[in-house]
Amino acid sequence: MPYNPNNIFAKILRGDTPNKTIFENEYALAFHDINPQAAVHALVIPKGAYIDMVDFGDRASAVEITEFYKAVSHVATLLNVQINGCRIIANTGEHGGQEVPHFHVHILGGEPLGKMLNKI
Ligand code: 5GP
Repeated sequence: MPYNPNNIFAKILRGDTPNKTIFENEYALAFHDINPQAAVHALVIPKGAYIDMVDFGDRASAVEITEFYKAVSHVATLLNVQINGCRIIANTGEHGGQEVPHFHVHILGGEPLGKMLNKI
């Protein structure tokens, strides 16, 4: 399935949809999730058009990959969730529950998060 440029994160990257930006550079954009699932809930997305983590790993350049994961660490530090810990997840595809088909990681924290999975 090809990348769909009409997904909501592509619109955010184009500036067509507003976001509450936490961090931005040439490779990544981080913003607060519109429907937070924890006291802290940020999303980090690459600037390039990648569907999910597998697509990103397959097609992104080494510098895109390095700079993206450096941005994830930087955002966790900016949000202070590295101190007490956090959960960083990348929902991938249908079984992974991915709703937006532009690769993103969630950074969740600011409170204890309990067990990892709650299958519903
Ligand atoms: P997924 O299920 O794809 O891993 O997560 C998509 C996330 O994007 C959800 O947590 C959802 O709340 C968030 N989201 C969807 N639309 C928007 C939006 O327009 N703005 C922001 N900031 N987050 C969004």
